[in-house]
Amino acid sequence: MAAVFLTACSGAQPAAAISKPASTPTVIQPSLKEQPPTQPAASGQGSSTALQVSATPLAQEPQASTPQPASCVSPASLTPAVTEGPYFKAGSPERSSLLQAGMAGTKLTISGMVLSSDCRPVAHALLDFWQADSQGQYDNSGYALRGHLFTDANGRYQLETIVPGLYPGRTEHIHVKVQAPGGPVLTTQLFFPGVQQNDSDSIFMPELVMPVVKSSDGWQAVFNFVVNLK
Ligand code: FE
Repeated sequence: MAAVFLTACSGAQPAAAISKPASTPTVIQPSLKEQPPTQPAASGQGSSTALQVSATPLAQEPQASTPQPASCVSPASLTPAVTEGPYFKAGSPERSSLLQAGMAGTKLTISGMVLSSDCRPVAHALLDFWQADSQGQYDNSGYALRGHLFTDANGRYQLETIVPGLYPGRTEHIHVKVQAPGGPVLTTQLFFPGVQQNDSDSIFMPELVMPVVKSSDGWQAVFNFVVNLK
């Protein structure tokens, strides 16, 4: 993958203000193409050879209702790459919530860490998310359900969004690009447990399934990324 150096973005925007990207994370690189939604998903597995995610709780005691990631054991396998698909847009706004007033769907919080293969937290790693709405539609004219954020000093991140809808040929998924400062860009997708369409989606990988706890306040998911630092 191409190494793309990022500059820090500042000034997180409020959740409802998504019309103007605050800054542009330069995280574009060639990747396999996800099939258009009108066609069956092709074999879109990325080129990563290490296909096991070893996720990690490092610093904090998880709360009782928080799903548990697996422990990180060094050397941890890198998070596998999968196809970018046709709907990535550069220039997403920096924000930790993709929720907007009136947005339909089930609230979803994804949290976790970005780690190196020796299980060290990666501070200020970029995570750039994009996803379909609850009806399976992407916003290709604006930036609804698109946004990027950075891990904190302890390598932690948290995103507030909604559960994406299905669209033809694909199971439920959330796209993300992850990049340690000065490191290569990982393009991958996150999946949900127990979705029937997982079995028929050739892009789906069990290593990329987020443990999810469902409650009256929405769904809580966790995922720890393991990335190359250079
Ligand atoms: Fe997609």
